[in-house]
Amino acid sequence: MSRLNRKPAPVSATPPRRHRVVIVGGGFGGLFAAKALRRADVDVTLIDRANHHLFQPLLYQVATGMLSEGDIAPPIRDILRRQPNVQVLLGEVVDIEVGARLLAVDVLDRRTEIPYDSLIVATGATQSYFGHPEFAVDAPGMKTIDHALELRGRIFGAFEMAEHESDPAARHRWLTFVVVGAGPTGVELAGQLAELSRQSLGRNFRNINPADTRVMLLDAGPTILSAFPKALRERAARDLRAIGIEIHVGTAVTHIEQRGLETNSAKPELRRIEAATKIWAAGVEASPLGRLLAEATGAEVDRAGRVKVERDLTLPGHPEVYIVGDLMSLDGLPGVAQVATQSGRHAAKTIIGRLGGNSTRRPFRYYDRGTMATISQFRAVALIGRIQAAGFVAWLLWLGVHLFALTGFKNRLGALFNWTMVFLSRGGRSQRVITAQQVFARRALEQQPEVIPAVQPVRETLTHSM
Ligand SMILES: Cc1cc2nc3c(=O)[nH]c(=O)nc-3n(C[C@H](O)[C@H](O)[C@H](O)COP(=O)(O)OP(=O)(O)OC[C@H]3O[C@@H](n4cnc5c(N)ncnc54)[C@H](O)[C@@H]3O)c2cc1C
Repeated sequence: MSRLNRKPAPVSATPPRRHRVVIVGGGFGGLFAAKALRRADVDVTLIDRANHHLFQPLLYQVATGMLSEGDIAPPIRDILRRQPNVQVLLGEVVDIEVGARLLAVDVLDRRTEIPYDSLIVATGATQSYFGHPEFAVDAPGMKTIDHALELRGRIFGAFEMAEHESDPAARHRWLTFVVVGAGPTGVELAGQLAELSRQSLGRNFRNINPADTRVMLLDAGPTILSAFPKALRERAARDLRAIGIEIHVGTAVTHIEQRGLETNSAKPELRRIEAATKIWAAGVEASPLGRLLAEATGAEVDRAGRVKVERDLTLPGHPEVYIVGDLMSLDGLPGVAQVATQSGRHAAKTIIGRLGGNSTRRPFRYYDRGTMATISQFRAVALIGRIQAAGFVAWLLWLGVHLFALTGFKNRLGALFNWTMVFLSRGGRSQRVITAQQVFARRALEQQPEVIPAVQPVRETLTHSM
């Protein structure tokens, strides 16, 4: 049942002067669609529930204190300030009525209905716990700034708690970090945790040696970095082990709780791992708007909840609705930033073409420009076409690509400054703030579950004593 009020139509009596394009989501897909419409004779409304465009590939650096949240999340309205045909609205789209071409948008307790002529849905993906949403309480994922700051609190908080601890077993538990999922995100995060403990935190503590930290990288599959060729996977595994990371593949997590986790490993010592900090980097599922659209229109979704689109990226039976980025399913294309930006641009160009009288349904073609993952300072692996690179050269490529891809000159400068400081000071990190609001506001919320039932108790922050 639609939650929209169908009658009367909330649109003003006078017909719109220009074609109205509404874009839902200001991530890679939505933002690049909006930019591609800058010269078009249309009115664009971009709606996002966050006020910022998030460069998700660098979230792990916010979580580990290398970059600040502002470095990777510029305000959407600031990015688009010089594009007068775009209005940016903060709000969460909670319903789409494709027949009436209307969206329901919530911001705080206010609901607005927004009409469209063309719609681009680019709401991305959320973390998937493969049927175990309860794992999220003790093993946060990494999809938003909130997640990254939550993780930062847990990571730096674990060292603080270990400094207080006199019981060796409890101290060991605080100093054990388990990353679940050995794709690029898990590998990069594990690498940062190793560098943080071996380099950045040196001389910071008196009772513990942060270099005693145990960093474990688990994956249910047979290998790390499964999207990379064998030679690069082996090189990455060697480099990770060289900085002290334990890798355990073929190891699926079966249970997670506050003090540790359990796995299906054949090795008895891995069946139960005592670890205060668990981080989930194992999977994603499409934004719930995908299933909502599918149920309303009879479109199919794949196993991850992504909507199967036509070759021109439209929703089957609805040539005015485009689905782009992580939310779309087409030819098994991966959920990566390049697919999102190229598909967003494609949707925008198709709209421009149609308004110009070109009714050809241009199929989307994806140009893969390569993939890469950092292991540690000055080490990475990269696959660009048939070229494989590893070590320092790959790391330089990674640095250049990420600097280029970061949105906005100010953000590039900010990130470059922070990185330079880290490199010059052999790993010193300046973004290590954990605010009282992060620690105590959550505790206050936990004590009032009847007021905010959705808030899960998070027990491994600084507020918890073991
Ligand atoms: C930790 C991490 C590391 C990654 N590393 C890489 C990498 O190295 N290389 C790479 O190519 N890709 C990487 N990716 C994947 C890449 O970030 C995504 O493929 C890309 O962000 C998808 O773009 P999108 O526009 O589809 O969705 P997103 O960028 O996720 O944007 C979706 C937007 O929609 C908004 N939104 C969601 N629901 C609603 C709603 N109901 N109403 C209003 N707004 C809504 C969100 O606030 C968000 O701004 C990484 C992803 C993560 C999480």
